[in-house]
Amino acid sequence: MKKRVAILGSTGSIGTQALEVIKEHADLFEVEVLTAHCNADLLIKQAIEFQPNAVVIGSDKLYSKVFEALNPHDIKVYAGEDSLTQIVESDNIDIVLAAIVGFAGLKSTIRAIEYKKTIALANKETLVVAGKLVTTLARENGVNILPVDSEHSAIFQCLEGEFQNPVEKIYLTASGGPFRGKDKEFLSKITKEQALKHPNWEMGKKITIDSASMMNKGLEVIEAKWLFGLKPEQINIIIHPQSIIHSIVQFEDGSMKAQMGLPDMKLPVQYALSYPYRLKSNFPRFNFVDYPELTFEKVDKDLFRNLNLAYEAMLQGGNMPCVLNAANEAVVYAFLRDKIGFLEMPDVIEACMQKMQFIKEPGFDDYVNSDKEARRMALEIMNYKL
Ligand code: NAD
Ligand code: MG
Repeated sequence: MKKRVAILGSTGSIGTQALEVIKEHADLFEVEVLTAHCNADLLIKQAIEFQPNAVVIGSDKLYSKVFEALNPHDIKVYAGEDSLTQIVESDNIDIVLAAIVGFAGLKSTIRAIEYKKTIALANKETLVVAGKLVTTLARENGVNILPVDSEHSAIFQCLEGEFQNPVEKIYLTASGGPFRGKDKEFLSKITKEQALKHPNWEMGKKITIDSASMMNKGLEVIEAKWLFGLKPEQINIIIHPQSIIHSIVQFEDGSMKAQMGLPDMKLPVQYALSYPYRLKSNFPRFNFVDYPELTFEKVDKDLFRNLNLAYEAMLQGGNMPCVLNAANEAVVYAFLRDKIGFLEMPDVIEACMQKMQFIKEPGFDDYVNSDKEARRMALEIMNYKL
């Protein structure tokens, strides 16, 4: 029987690549559900091609457009935030690819876990915001969370077959983004156009800015803590500009295992969908002579202050990573609208972390409230500057 896939965020960078994977393996997978926020045209095109049972468009005002286009194809159409969450309850779904960006992906991922769906997790913010709640829920429901993020997929692959062998530490590799090796003076003047040019990966805008500011790696450190049950001091970052080694596990005997390949998100997406099997692919292969040098550098956490802030939020725990994430989403969208400078982003995030009320053992509603309040606070702080 084919694996029935729901893709939440099918119109994004991960979503579209997942559909390419599914198209290559149409004998193994079928699309049950597609969702998008407001790109109705692409959602309609995808639905006509992949014939899901249902689609959800997040934006209510686009409902009639999507309905008129898909009704003749016998595809159910829903709209709105609640439908985005409820759609994962369907009995016909085997695996949910959580590929919505940001806090907006949290609710649907939680609902999918409650309905015992296997999760292929691209939406790292889910674990950053509510790692404890989400991993506890997954354990209680016997649900596997399979990482899609390339670094975490690498760690996951390195751990295969190791059973309970203890991990000494992990190294998350980071390309360093477009501003590797630059100084403070340079960073103070950069524009969004410069920040949107990532050297090795093509991704959605938010994660591309996060990669330039190194917040992406900070979020990934917190994601790794929850996925692999690690202590903060076991998680290291190493700059590796070629993005060939996707991450490394070091075991207690000192042995290190790394997972390598050309940078291509289709591979971790496919592995999460086909796990525990590996499927034959025609992805371009790595050639050693094209890369005579794989290099490594220390990360500069003082220049890329988001890294220190993310470690700080992780150490504090409670609602602090949620605050970090919410403030970051607010400053990234402000930066994309030219409302704030590149180096001001960590200033605003830090101020929010200092001002927000700390909640040690947050529940779901606390996360929702902390997210809302931290965004409001970030906007207020930025308005003072405008
Ligand atoms: P993207 O911006 O390209 O796509 C985001 C998707 O989410 C779109 O389909 C959009 O319609 C949907 N969406 C956005 N806001 C929404 C909302 N409020 N409600 C419902 N749906 C909404 O983003 P992306 O680059 O594909 O990233 C998706 C997730 O995967 C992020 O969490 C990102 O950190 C993670 N990730 C991405 C990559 C990558 O290579 N792109 C790599 C690793 C991890
Ligand atoms: Mg990554």
